[in-house]
Amino acid sequence: MRSGRDPGDVTLVAVSKTVDAVRLQSAVAAGLTLFGENRVQEAESKAPQVPGARWHLIGPLQSNKARRAVELFDVIESVDSVDLARRLDRLAGDAGRRARGLGIFLQVNVDLDEAKAGFLPESLDAALPALAELSNLRLLGLMTVGRLVGNVEEARETFVRLRKVSGRLRERAPTLGPGLSMGMSDDYAVAVEEGATVIRVGRALFGTRLG
Ligand SMILES: *Cc1c(COP(=O)(O)O)cnc(C)c1O
Repeated sequence: MRSGRDPGDVTLVAVSKTVDAVRLQSAVAAGLTLFGENRVQEAESKAPQVPGARWHLIGPLQSNKARRAVELFDVIESVDSVDLARRLDRLAGDAGRRARGLGIFLQVNVDLDEAKAGFLPESLDAALPALAELSNLRLLGLMTVGRLVGNVEEARETFVRLRKVSGRLRERAPTLGPGLSMGMSDDYAVAVEEGATVIRVGRALFGTRLG
């Protein structure tokens, strides 16, 4: 690997939004079993048709869909508020997931982009003590969505920032795991160079999305 990283240290989430269940069955047969969806409803309609798959939620979660999300997804990567985390913790307890917990990533708006969801980096310091008390959740790490940039190199700064935020927070709050979910089709190589442990790749695997 160009980055010098061990491929086993990076998990590929195949982003399957808009890709139909039949194509996902083929992907599972070919060994690709971990999918990322940005809408609960779409994942819910496909999941029963794709046995052997595991699912990550990578898009915004409305509170009225949280229960279904907890039942459906292995990991929720898009947790962007303490309120949502508290709700997920309660639901994970109800759903009998106390033993292994529900894995979550905290979505961080590292570029301070008004159009984007996520915790602002400085708000995480205040949020972490409350998050650390949620015993049905496992705080796997931080997630971010890079900016739309013309040149891949311009994406690097976002990933460096997320890594630094993680390092800073983990010194004070070791309950926050080391995971870094960052990088998509156009910039995953740069994200891996900067320490991504999870990459979320859609178009590079499944082709251009229609609509
Ligand atoms: C769609 C999406 C991806 C994948 O994007 P591609 O450009 O298709 O690789 C990754 N992360 C999130 C949050 C997405 O919504």
